[in-house]
Amino acid sequence: MSARVIDGNALAAKVRGEIAARAAALGGRGEQPGLAVVLIGNNPASAVYVRNKVAACEKAGIRSLKLEYPADVAPAVVMAKLAELNADATVHGILVQLPLPPQFDEGAVLEAISVAKDVDGFHAENVGRLSQGQEAFLPCTPHGVMRMFEAEGVSLSGAEAVVIGRSNIVGKPMAMLLTQAGATVTVCHSRTRDLAFHTRRADILVAAIGKPRFVTADMVKPGATVIDVGINRLPDGKLCGDVDFAGVSEVAGLITPVPGGVGPMTITMLLENTVISAERVARARQV
Ligand code: NAD
Repeated sequence: MSARVIDGNALAAKVRGEIAARAAALGGRGEQPGLAVVLIGNNPASAVYVRNKVAACEKAGIRSLKLEYPADVAPAVVMAKLAELNADATVHGILVQLPLPPQFDEGAVLEAISVAKDVDGFHAENVGRLSQGQEAFLPCTPHGVMRMFEAEGVSLSGAEAVVIGRSNIVGKPMAMLLTQAGATVTVCHSRTRDLAFHTRRADILVAAIGKPRFVTADMVKPGATVIDVGINRLPDGKLCGDVDFAGVSEVAGLITPVPGGVGPMTITMLLENTVISAERVARARQV
């Protein structure tokens, strides 16, 4: 059996077309959406992510503002800039690229971003709202995965879903969204005793680990939907996911590739959140 491959690039292109149309409409009403991206230090992966986000904004008609600081910048300098951006009416979304250098308290930085401009969905208030099923900015990666399920007609209600990874940015919010969609969710992590026991039961398996080709064919239930969130750089410079694509695609029913799977949808959801934020401002100005 050979799995059907989900084309993340194609879905992202379709959704980005819709986002660009909404951004243009906002521009026509004098509210061009704007995203501020803060990059601290010289982590090469972070620099690539920020470059991709800025380029995607430009293509979608979203104004982007890139703010770069050296690794040894004083946290107070960044906090002051965040306060300025919170008050800037031309900025609808603010993103601080993670990870941060050790002098920073990550939670304090994320909470210094206005909840209304927290387009990454990492502010504790947005996380709390998400956990209660209230309207919130959803974290981009798990939100992008949910949109893939929707686009592919994957049935979640009653499904056994297993998420490998319990990070704040992927694993935990992914588990919350799947729970809200009616799946029975198991969250596995580095302390899980018999990982394959859990993964072999999964109708839906999401891997967010950060270990190249960690999920192998023997860990996957035949016909399962396998979502590979991992982005790992191999010694030869090529990218690969957390799933052994060649082996697992012989067993799974539906699978995402890396690159060209979850990654493009993550950036797409960031653009969408920025447009949603600008639409809220435009609506509030009218009333
Ligand atoms: P993280 O390091 O914060 O979390 C990794 C998780 O994997 C942890 O919860 C840990 O318990 C679990 N884990 C580690 N070893 C394990 C093992 N042997 N068995 C079971 N679980 C294990 O990472 P993260 O930020 O959640 O990112 C995970 C991966 O997803 C990374 O490769 C990252 O680059 C990628 N990522 C991709 C996107 C995207 O847009 N595609 C976005 C964010 C992160």
